[in-house]
Amino acid sequence: MEETILGIHHITAIAGDAKRNFDFYTQVLGLRFIKRTVNFDDPYTYHFYYGDEYGSAGTILTFFPWGDIEQGEIGAGTASEIGYSVPKGSLDFWIDRFEKNAIVYHKPATKFGEKFLTFFDPDGLKLALIEAETPDNRVAWETDAVKAEVATKGFHSITLTLNEVAPTARILTEIFGYQLIQQEGVNYRYATKAIDTANVIDLIELPEEPLGEVAGGSVHHVAFRVKNDEILMQFRAKIKALGLDITPQIDRNYFHSLYFREPGGVLFEIATENPGFTVDEPLAELGKNLKLPAQYEPYRSDIEQHLVVID
Ligand code: ZN
Repeated sequence: MEETILGIHHITAIAGDAKRNFDFYTQVLGLRFIKRTVNFDDPYTYHFYYGDEYGSAGTILTFFPWGDIEQGEIGAGTASEIGYSVPKGSLDFWIDRFEKNAIVYHKPATKFGEKFLTFFDPDGLKLALIEAETPDNRVAWETDAVKAEVATKGFHSITLTLNEVAPTARILTEIFGYQLIQQEGVNYRYATKAIDTANVIDLIELPEEPLGEVAGGSVHHVAFRVKNDEILMQFRAKIKALGLDITPQIDRNYFHSLYFREPGGVLFEIATENPGFTVDEPLAELGKNLKLPAQYEPYRSDIEQHLVVID
C-alpha cells in the first residue's frame, strides 16, 4: 500500500495580510506554526506552514500571504472547501469560539452521515470542521485555548467543485488508487484505503457553474502524499502517459514535488514525506526563525527588510 498515494500531503491557499493570517490559524484555530519561509518562486513573499507538532503529512496547511491581493471566487475548477477532522462532540466548543472571535460560520449540517461546521477565515477561505465517522487516532496539537479534546487532528478531506466529475474521478481512481464510496445527489465521495486519515476527496458536480478564480481566500493547490522520490517519479510517468503536462521534480526543501493540472482545472501536486520540516531547524524551534533555501541566503537581509515582522 505504501507504493501509492497516501492521502493529502498539504493544502496551499492564498491569503492577504500575513499577520491576520498568522493570528487566525495559530490563535483562533490553534494550529502549530511549523515553518516561516518564503515563496520559493517569489522570495519577497512569506510562505507560512501550519500543522501538528511535527508538521505531519495530512495536517499541513500553507499560505502565501500576498498583501493586497484581489478576492478569489469559489467556482468550477477550484478546491472549494478544506475539511478538518475534529473529535465528536466538539462542534459546540467551536461555535462558541467562532462567536467570540466574530468568525463567519454556518450552522452545523450533515453530509455523508458526518456532522460538520462550515466557517470562513479572515480572507474568506471556506473550511469545515468534520466529526468523522471513521476513527482518527492522530495526536492533536493543543494550545491553552484549544485543548486536545476539541482540537483539529489534521485534514479530513478536500472538496473540489467541477463542471464534470468523470475526468477528475478517472485520475483519482485509475492513477491515485481512490474509490467512489458514497454519492448523495451531486456530491461524490472518493477515498483511498491506503491510509486511514486525510484520505477523502469530495467532488461536487455542477455543470452550469462558472469557473472559479484562484486569488485571495482560495486554495492554490492540493498536494498528495507519497512515501519517497522513487514512488514520486513512478507517478510522474503515469501522469505523462495520460498525455497531461507535469513538471520535473522540484526541491521544496521540506519535500520533493511534481505539479500538474488535473482535467477538471485544479492544480495538483504530488509531494514526498522526505525530508520533512526538521531538516533545517529542531522540532522544538519549528516556525521560530525565518528559514530560506540556500539560493536566497545571500539576499537574507534584503528579503527580511521586505517582510512584516510576525511574532
Ligand atoms: Zn505545495
